[in-house]
Amino acid sequence: MVAVDDRGRLAYVGPALTAPAEVSVSPVDVRPWVVLPGMVDLHAHLPQLPNAGVGFALDLLTWLDRLTFPTERSWADPAVAERLAPAIFRAFARVGTTTVLAYGVVYKAAMETAFAAARDHGIRAILGKVMMDRLTYDPTIEPSSILERSLRESSELIERWHGAEDGRLGYAVTPRFAVSCTADMLRESASLARATGAWWQSHVSEDRSEIAEVRRLFPDTLDYVDVYDRAGGLGDRSVLAHAIHLSDRELGRLVETRTRVAHCPPSNLYIASGLMPLARWLEAGLLVGLGSDVSGGPDPSLFTVMRVGAYSQNAWRVVAGDERPILDPLGWLRLATLDGARALGLETAIGSLEAGKEADMIVVDPSLTAPLPDVEGVDPEGFAEDPSLLMSRLIFRAHPDMVRGAWVRGNRLDGPAS
Ligand SMILES: [Zn+2]
Repeated sequence: MVAVDDRGRLAYVGPALTAPAEVSVSPVDVRPWVVLPGMVDLHAHLPQLPNAGVGFALDLLTWLDRLTFPTERSWADPAVAERLAPAIFRAFARVGTTTVLAYGVVYKAAMETAFAAARDHGIRAILGKVMMDRLTYDPTIEPSSILERSLRESSELIERWHGAEDGRLGYAVTPRFAVSCTADMLRESASLARATGAWWQSHVSEDRSEIAEVRRLFPDTLDYVDVYDRAGGLGDRSVLAHAIHLSDRELGRLVETRTRVAHCPPSNLYIASGLMPLARWLEAGLLVGLGSDVSGGPDPSLFTVMRVGAYSQNAWRVVAGDERPILDPLGWLRLATLDGARALGLETAIGSLEAGKEADMIVVDPSLTAPLPDVEGVDPEGFAEDPSLLMSRLIFRAHPDMVRGAWVRGNRLDGPAS
């Protein structure tokens, strides 16, 4: 049983029989549905949701040019952002995501719209205006003024939205990645994040041709991670997506600086970027959470991310002969929830169902995942009571409508199939 107090916190989590009298008023019995912590998506691109599932078999730089940049450019029209942003947050809630760390677009007005939509929807959202001072897709900005304007607009957005709604909304300073940012942009963005307490997010070591391009653009640095290190971008408020082709030196440096990584396995396979040696990264002490990376990843659901991650982990074992232990279904759930919360420094507030934490949770209908839904008694003995078997079913036979409800601070979100 889960009880929520009037401040949106979990007042009690445990068997109904042992609940204190004051929390057991008018209980709602949702069995056989199960209650889980809300999913924490550490890496997504808001404007790319309409493109999800389109563009398979394009390499990263072609995919950006042909599909992604035109879609993001369409948000220059305020009407586009206003139409799409509310639907995008409903789409995240529909798949059980209650916290999302996401990239927006380069346009400040569209970011105001996105933040307002997150405020009205009720999801927990950390968003950032994309910063790019080379390869930018906005033809209206004079190249020589991009850095100054991008910093000014980011700082205005931080002032307005970072910590808004009593901390439910936050800001992440968002230089897209080293290929589209100069060293000046990277350094100034990191110093803005530090000065304001905002998060800092970017991409690292995703694709071999991208890594080669970074080497060409930053010839004086040791490697890709060193580009961000020299900019002052590493640290425990920084979330880097992908990080799949790290050298030992790069891995060590990310661990040492407590930099967080968003692991996005569906994206890594969809764009054929590669496989993360996850067990080795975890053994080294890297803090890893999960990201959908829509639309590099084709599905906003973290259940899909867990499933593809588990397959990728097995593929890595077979291909690389790595005998380190792999994550079991509950280990994947932890990555999608509590470790995601840890990556954001929010683990005392969200990420698990514990009394005192905020009531960010979802209910899931396992009957939709049954292989023979019309035949009684075919599930393994004790299936419904065994969390590992249950989670295995939810990951490997996830159904698009299985999330029946999602709450942030006890407030029900629009989006789930009900
Ligand atoms: Zn991405």
